Amino acid sequence: MIFRQLFDARSSTYTYLLADAATKEALLIDTVFEQFQRDSALVSELGLRLRTTLETHVHADHVTAAWLFRERLGSKIALSADGGATGADLLLRHGDVVSAGGVTLEVRSTPGHTNGCVTYVTGDRQMAFTGDALLVRAAGRTDFQQGDARTLYRSVHEQIFSLPGSCILYPGHDYQGRTATSVDEERSYNPRLGGQRSVDDFFGYMQNLGLPHPKQIDVAVPANLRCGRPDAGLAAPESPAWAPVVRSFAGVPQIGPLWLEENRPAVWVLDVREPAEFDGELGHIEGAALVPIGQLRQKLGEIPRDRPVVCVCRSGGRSAQAAIILEGAGFKDVANLDGGMIAWRSLEREGPATPS
Ligand code: FE
Repeated sequence: MIFRQLFDARSSTYTYLLADAATKEALLIDTVFEQFQRDSALVSELGLRLRTTLETHVHADHVTAAWLFRERLGSKIALSADGGATGADLLLRHGDVVSAGGVTLEVRSTPGHTNGCVTYVTGDRQMAFTGDALLVRAAGRTDFQQGDARTLYRSVHEQIFSLPGSCILYPGHDYQGRTATSVDEERSYNPRLGGQRSVDDFFGYMQNLGLPHPKQIDVAVPANLRCGRPDAGLAAPESPAWAPVVRSFAGVPQIGPLWLEENRPAVWVLDVREPAEFDGELGHIEGAALVPIGQLRQKLGEIPRDRPVVCVCRSGGRSAQAAIILEGAGFKDVANLDGGMIAWRSLEREGPATPS
């Protein structure tokens, strides 16, 4: 199985990617709207087909990217039937199984943080995604969104602590850099729910957390009840108008050699290699300007701002850094030539991939 844990620093949310390494079918749990480009780049770079996005609950602290993934990648939206959201493809109930190739997730109803909370458990019961029902050494708050501490206590004890002790638990959030825990650990060390804590101990603890009202709740809950479909206050990320730029998982705006060949007059080509390379074996793109990467920060004033800039080097490495430098300096329409001069020359040898 392919497994990745992704983090959104603004909301401290974890997103999980699970995929069958053989069939390349994938699932994403708890996506974040603002991380759509990052996570779709990872799906693409790993050669995966995203089947389904799943929610552990209707979140109050971030907006899901489920709708965006369905629009752009054709995935299905799955969440609990008890969450009250509209626009989903699969309304999940306790005992349902969601799969992608050989990866299967059993749905366990674990209400208490919200009444639609679920925990997803892998078929071998060695991994569980607990959302906000159980956090590392903590538990989701129970003071809004139909929260109920006594219900949450029962959910955790009956549905999560009943899993094998070695089962690794992956939370929906962490605010202190902890990434995962296990059933055994939480049974022993969870200060709210573990050890000898009774349901009344937990109730008393949760009544006195004194947490502030979540900043995002008034935006996030209505948006998540639409599965993240944008409205006036929430715009879907678009690729820029000037070119079909794709931002890689590394965060670099990339454009392919074929597009550059077909649109050469519309852009300013910035070659960031050394002079000897510019005139060397691979040569250079006609009309390209030469500014070696080591001089770029000092020569930003020589680069026009009225045209898109495509950065080029030998293989696309130094020019990726150049693209990031230009973006950092406020250049709006910037891309890196994916694969650099090597890709450019092989395009010339092979000719365009599609007949024109
Ligand atoms: Fe939550």
